[in-house]
Amino acid sequence: MKQALVTGASRGIGAATALALGAAGYRVWLHYRRQEAAARSVAAAILGAGGPEPHLVSFDLRDRQQTEAATHTLLQELGNPDAVVLNAGISHNQLFALMDDTQWDEVIGTNLNGFLAVGRPVVKAMVRQRRGRIVVVSSVAAQRGSAGQVAYAASKGALASAARSLALEVARLGITVNVVSPGFIETEMLAGAPVQAYLPLVPLRRVGQPSEVAHVIRYLCSDEAAFVTGQVIGVNGGLWM
Ligand code: NAP
Repeated sequence: MKQALVTGASRGIGAATALALGAAGYRVWLHYRRQEAAARSVAAAILGAGGPEPHLVSFDLRDRQQTEAATHTLLQELGNPDAVVLNAGISHNQLFALMDDTQWDEVIGTNLNGFLAVGRPVVKAMVRQRRGRIVVVSSVAAQRGSAGQVAYAASKGALASAARSLALEVARLGITVNVVSPGFIETEMLAGAPVQAYLPLVPLRRVGQPSEVAHVIRYLCSDEAAFVTGQVIGVNGGLWM
């Protein structure tokens, strides 16, 4: 049975991705940080839809030692994952001049350092098995920029660049690395944002649903996506155009 680790799967895009991969028959390693009850209901939904029983795991991506240790334990106990979706992320809305060190460190620590702490042990395992799929969730903010989100855009731009370089390193080993770059997606991250003001920027004139991102991620994890690597795929209603 195929296995997939999805970080930040307790809600939003990660939860939708866990559901999509569970429905495709993957045993999902369902990661969360704090919201255990939410993670358990995602696991129950996967089971209810006929998917394999997920394995729940919690760690805080800001803590590199804890994250690396937890990832090593997963690999030892469950074997090698076929796919890893590095989705968990946070955003602090603050003007750059007013941002404090903690806000910068939290955003970079979660979004970018998490890539290292989970990605490095996973890549070692995938190199040994000569196959694997890695999908990194970036943001349209990385390409377009976003006022009030300097740290967030920096972290997401760095992730896309890191993923592209990693794709070049591991391509000959049968491992693909791709980036999904969502636009405005209806999750808790968007709660309180002036969504109506954003819509004129979106050619499709609506926000996206988490499942619409999840379906693209599921494709990139599949055997059918074997010739797709090093790409940044926007799921944004045309926002980039
Ligand atoms: P969300 O609903 O806010 O969910 C965030 C997830 O990340 C939760 O599962 C949360 O776990 C986890 N998480 C947060 N901080 C963490 C930490 N320090 N350690 C471990 N896990 C942590 O977010 P979303 O909107 O689904 O976004 C998912 C990804 O898409 C993010 O990388 C985000 O930047 C990106 N994105 C979102 C949008 C959008 O419009 N929604 C647009 C572009 C890109 P707990 O809840 O268990 O704490």
